[in-house]
Amino acid sequence: MNKCKHCGGDKLIKDLHVKRSNEIGFYGIPYTKSIFVGTEPFRIELCQECGTINRLYVKDMNRNWVKDDPK
Ligand SMILES: [Zn+2]
Repeated sequence: MNKCKHCGGDKLIKDLHVKRSNEIGFYGIPYTKSIFVGTEPFRIELCQECGTINRLYVKDMNRNWVKDDPK
């Protein structure tokens, strides 16, 4: 089982989303799929003993990532 890098605890919860508090939507990395632009959401692994975010990650790392800001 994974351990917290900060406190060594093992009460880690993963796949939490990064969300804005007052607006609909979430933060993520933009990618293109044919003519569409999607957003792969950031996921968090949180230690429930000390509150440390141990990992920030995405589930699908093989997207066609947008490397420049969309104009
Ligand atoms: Zn911890």
